[in-house]
Amino acid sequence: MPSGSRLLNIFFSKNNFLGSFNDIKNIPNPNLPECCFIGRSNVGKSSIINAITKTKKLAKISKTPGRTQSANLFEINKTINIVDLPGYGYAKISKNTREQLTFLIESYISKRTNLAKIFVLIDCKVGVKNSDINMFDFILTSNKIFAIVLTKIDKCRVDFIKKQHKSILSLMKNYNKNFTQLFSSSSNKNEGILDLQKEIFNLSKENEI
Ligand code: GDP
Repeated sequence: MPSGSRLLNIFFSKNNFLGSFNDIKNIPNPNLPECCFIGRSNVGKSSIINAITKTKKLAKISKTPGRTQSANLFEINKTINIVDLPGYGYAKISKNTREQLTFLIESYISKRTNLAKIFVLIDCKVGVKNSDINMFDFILTSNKIFAIVLTKIDKCRVDFIKKQHKSILSLMKNYNKNFTQLFSSSSNKNEGILDLQKEIFNLSKENEI
């Protein structure tokens, strides 16, 4: 009999790319529960989506020029959507582009009615920056639910990871109505990926629309 992790890999490998969207009004599939991934540029978002879906295909799509500044929608097993949002906090883009991205991200978070959970990624070595705090505040204002994923933990010593955990959990006391849990992951070492797969699988069951 296949193990739980094998079943989850099968669940996640049944995935479809449904398109890139610059206007939230055009995003299809509003009748499936949805989760999204967001974080500063270079936080490891594409790598983690690859690791969760066990395919290089999905996040490669998100890296295609023209799609990095859109919301990319993936349907998993016809039961839950994963949305890959553009990275924020990137200095080397024009003011105009930054404003467009902020508008897309904020309108998606505040208006997407089937959005069950936001995964905010934080690079373990870099820690929480002002742009992340702005994101937590926006999520709070929008009354949405979020989890934090500490990424690239293979780059950090165990005591440093513990320190980051402690400091993030302390900060999260300010967001206790909206913050649910803290995950740690390494896409390179496949650590913590099973926990994320379980969480997304559970979201698909708990939030059936
Ligand atoms: P994105 O811009 O947020 O989509 O980030 P990417 O997934 O493209 O990753 C940015 C950089 O971090 C790349 O050079 C990746 O190889 C590296 N990276 C991503 N995940 C990990 C990880 O778990 N461990 C390590 N050591 N590097 C990682």
